[in-house]
This record gives sequence, structure tokens and C-alpha cells, in this order.
Amino acid sequence: MRKEGKLVLLIEDEPDMVRGLRDAMCFEGFAVISSGTGTDGIAKARKEKPDLIVLDLMLPDTNGYKVCEEIRQWSQQVPIIMLTARSQESDKIRGLEVGADDYVTKPFSVGEFMARIKAIFRRLDRAAGLDEVVTIGDAQIDLKKHTCTRNRKTEPLTFYEVELIKLLYERQQEPVSRDEILDKIWGIEATPSNRTVDNFIVKLRRKIEEDHKQPRHILTVYGTGYKLVL
Ligand code: CA
Repeated sequence: MRKEGKLVLLIEDEPDMVRGLRDAMCFEGFAVISSGTGTDGIAKARKEKPDLIVLDLMLPDTNGYKVCEEIRQWSQQVPIIMLTARSQESDKIRGLEVGADDYVTKPFSVGEFMARIKAIFRRLDRAAGLDEVVTIGDAQIDLKKHTCTRNRKTEPLTFYEVELIKLLYERQQEPVSRDEILDKIWGIEATPSNRTVDNFIVKLRRKIEEDHKQPRHILTVYGTGYKLVL
């Protein structure tokens, strides 16, 4: 990661949106590069290695899902925020499945967008100071490399998956509510929804648990949320 200032790659084709977001991010001291197409965006992501990617779902040559999927083939770590004009839950879930970390639904306020970005960078800075490997059951979670190793198989973890593990780990044996998870991990209340949390838990269990249908470590606390048992 660059020490002096963070580099954000904005993949979006609407000139007004690009201008507005670029101005807001530059004002806060971030360096911003942008691409008007998915193809160019993927190329820039590879070449420039940005610290964060803001990705529009609707692009002239392809869609954001495909771009996200492609980037995730060689970079699990870079946080990706998707911009979408849609608000249907199914679109969000599809995006999470291809590796997006967060959503902003258009129209949105620049203030909300900036709060989201700053929250991500605060967490990244905190994570940079950690070098621990956490053991959950027979899974080894490397919080720095963003990997989960179990049965000699290593799988990548996304940025938010690692954040969720850290939160549950800090509070192990104690239930953590979905609202608290949303607030602490995503930083903005009420968006995205509680189902986003459930979706992340399902994905995490597949990586960590021996049998994800009968979890022994990431447990559901009925009516509350989740708790971690090592
Ligand atoms: Ca667009």
C-alpha cells in the first residue's frame, strides 16, 4: 500500500458521476484514476494496483459483475465498492457472490459515499498493523494474507470476510447482533441489509467449517445474531 495518499480506481462511464466523485475524493486527499469501460478498468486495476476500486454495475462494454469476477481472479484483497442504480436484493447478492465488498445504490449523497470510503480505509490501516494467524477449529485464518487454510487447502478470503472474522474473534463466545455487525463492518446503519450479513456468514462457513450445514464454530444465536466458538 502507498504510504503517501491512497489510490482509488473509479470504473464508471457517466461523466457527471466521474467528475463528482473524483472531486470529492481528491478534496479528501485521495489520488483518483478513472476508466470509462470495464476492459480499461481491468487493465488499470492490474497495472496501477489501486488501494480501492469503485465499480459501476452498468458499463458500456460489459457489466460490473464480470469486471469484479475478473479482478478477483488475481486480487482478493483490494476492496471493491459497487455502484448500482438498482436496489433489488438479488442484484446485491449476485454482486457479493462475485466478490464485491459493499454497495452504494444510486442516487446517493457524496457525503454517504465518502463516509463509506473512509471507513474502509480506516479498517485497512488498522489491518496493516496485524500479523496474526487465528485458529478456528481446524482452519487457520491468516488475517494479513487474507487466506483460510483447512485440510491443506488454502482459500482466499475477501476484505469484509476478514473483518467479520476479526469482529467475531474479538467477541468470541459472546453473541454479536446483525445490527452490530452491519454497523462495525460496513459502518453505515441499515444499508446493506441484515440479509447481507447472513449471506457473508454462509460463505464463511463454507470456508471455515468442516460441515457448513452443521456449523460448530460460527453459530447462529436465534433472534440475535452470531457467535464464534473456537
Ligand atoms: Ca454506468
